[in-house]
Amino acid sequence: MKIICIGRNYVAHAKELNNPIPEKPVFFMKPDTALLPPHNPFFYPDFSKDVHYEAELVIKINKNGKHIAEKFAHKYYDEISVGIDFTARDLQADCKKKGLPWEIAKAFDFSAPVGNFIPITTFENTSSIPFGLKINSDWRQQGNSSNMIFSFDRIIAYVSQFVTLRSGDLIFTGTPEGVGPAQREDHFELFLADEKVLDFKVK
Ligand code: MG
Repeated sequence: MKIICIGRNYVAHAKELNNPIPEKPVFFMKPDTALLPPHNPFFYPDFSKDVHYEAELVIKINKNGKHIAEKFAHKYYDEISVGIDFTARDLQADCKKKGLPWEIAKAFDFSAPVGNFIPITTFENTSSIPFGLKINSDWRQQGNSSNMIFSFDRIIAYVSQFVTLRSGDLIFTGTPEGVGPAQREDHFELFLADEKVLDFKVK
C-alpha cells in the first residue's frame, strides 16, 4: 500500500506557512514504513530539531482505480480516520530553499500515525466532518472537511490521473491551521467528531 498526502488544502494553513492558495491539489507520498505500529510511541528522530504535527482526515481506498471520474469517486472509499503527517520542518525548509524534493522531511519512518477507521456512513454529510488534535489535553488543531479547498472526490479524481489507486491505499487530505512543534513526552489524542481514534506519546 501507499500513502498519498495532500498539501495546502486549507486556506488558513496555506497562509500560516506563507504558501499561495493552490489551483490544483498538491500531493506527495509516504511509504508504508511511515505507518506507526499500533500502541507504539513516536520516537522523535535525531535528524531534526523541529518536527511539526499536522492533523489530517485520512480516507482509505477500498478498490483499485485509475482515471476515476469525480462523480464516481465516492465509490472508492468508505472509511475515514484521523492521522498525523509528521514533518521535519527544518529539513523541509532547507529542501524548499534549494528546490529539492521533500522526502527526507515527510517520508521518514513512523511519520504517519493513523487512527482507527470508522465507516464514512457514520456521517450524514462527508463535506462536514469535524476532527481535532489534543496535545497534553489541550486542543491544538480543530478542523472540518467543510473548509477543505479540494474535496475527497476531487482529490481522488486528480491523483488517479497520475497514480493508480489500490485498495488499502491511504490519502491524508491536508491539515487545517494550528500546526506546531512536537516535544518529547507530549501526549497526542486524535478525534474524529467525538470519537477518540488514536492516542500515543512522543518519546
Ligand atoms: Mg500535511
